Amino acid sequence: MKTFDVAIAGGGLIGATIAFELARAGLQVALFDRQQPGEGASWAAAGILSPAPENTGMISTVPLGRASLQLYPEFVASVEEISGQSAGYRARGTLEALFSNDAQEKLSTIIALHHGLGLKAEAVSADDAREMEPALSPEVEAGVFRPDEASVDSRALTKAVLTAAERSGVKTFAGSDVQSIAKDGGRCGGFLVDGEKIQSRWTVIAAGCCSPEIEGAARYAPVRPAKGQMIALRAEDFSIERVLWSDHVYLVPRNDGRILAGATVEYVGFDKKVTAGAVQKIITAALQLAAALADAQIEETWAGLRPDSPDHLPIIGPTDLEGLVIATGHFRSGILLAPISAQLIREWITTQNVSLDWGRFSPLRFGPMQFGEVARATNS
Ligand SMILES: Cc1cc2nc3c(=O)[nH]c(=O)nc-3n(C[C@H](O)[C@H](O)[C@H](O)COP(=O)(O)OP(=O)(O)OC[C@H]3O[C@@H](n4cnc5c(N)ncnc54)[C@H](O)[C@@H]3O)c2cc1C
Repeated sequence: MKTFDVAIAGGGLIGATIAFELARAGLQVALFDRQQPGEGASWAAAGILSPAPENTGMISTVPLGRASLQLYPEFVASVEEISGQSAGYRARGTLEALFSNDAQEKLSTIIALHHGLGLKAEAVSADDAREMEPALSPEVEAGVFRPDEASVDSRALTKAVLTAAERSGVKTFAGSDVQSIAKDGGRCGGFLVDGEKIQSRWTVIAAGCCSPEIEGAARYAPVRPAKGQMIALRAEDFSIERVLWSDHVYLVPRNDGRILAGATVEYVGFDKKVTAGAVQKIITAALQLAAALADAQIEETWAGLRPDSPDHLPIIGPTDLEGLVIATGHFRSGILLAPISAQLIREWITTQNVSLDWGRFSPLRFGPMQFGEVARATNS
């Protein structure tokens, strides 16, 4: 029987970062993925590192996001040093473009909201915004610059973390389907992989949107797939320096000159088709933001499945089954939140104490509630 200190189900960025962190803390770690690790949502992501909440429901993730953003420079440096691979990290800030007639009013609200949450945000005039990013449309009325925000090449980062984890001692098992949690008396003693028992003192479920398929995990990780479609463009005669946003689209520059445009959020099960309607929507919004993209070549289109929880917040922490820990539900922020998620889980596994209050993200918060019931409870 294979025996480890920690067995992790899922080799996306979340599972891989946890594996890397725990191996560096001196633990014997094994990472199991049912396909090739790093080909799930983490492969599909835009890689924006922004702790700003998209709506009021996400405000509780801000401390987590801020802490993770702060960890990023050191995280990337150690991953790049150990793996010998670049993660495509760009710490150039992000710029949100406002178009409407009430742009000035909107600008004050956004700036006040950010400052209230301890996030840096600066008002930028339309002229200054276009000076920072000449590709911006002449119709832009104002901008919000968030100097601390950044982006990373999520495909490159995930690959680099997987390499760094292996070089730090993690044993990786590709094509290994985790079927169920294995109970040993009253505790979790590992899991079953293709019929074989993997024995571990700690078991981590980080299988993204497929986590509930692992028998025994669904009640702690009731996530579902939220499909996102993306487009990669290449422009001959211009580039953008930093992430650009509007209400309808974001544009993310990569170090290889590509500009990613995205993304949809669709609840259509496990379907990963790229659709004409979504491509049209993304391209229309991208050209409104930067009209010069009209001549850009479409190099690639793809879709990925984000792990989304009933309240859209991450699910990280211990369960009521001793030894079983969950790390999923990172929805639209799993690339940003990987370093802090890994740090908190390492702290829990090695000391049973964590440096940041993670109660709000407990896997025990759902009880018997399912998606519809949470939605009803929230609306009433
Ligand atoms: C289009 C798009 C854009 C995004 N943009 C951003 C962004 O800009 N910034 C940001 O922070 N986040 C972004 N995200 C979200 C981010 O990608 C996810 O939150 C994050 O990648 C989740 O990582 P994960 O490791 O939990 O899941 P995944 O990367 O999906 O990894 C899960 C792994 O588990 C494996 N697995 C599944 N079931 C089993 C099983 N039974 N046994 C073994 N292995 C199993 C899978 O094969 C997979 O490799 C985006 C996502 C999408 C789709």
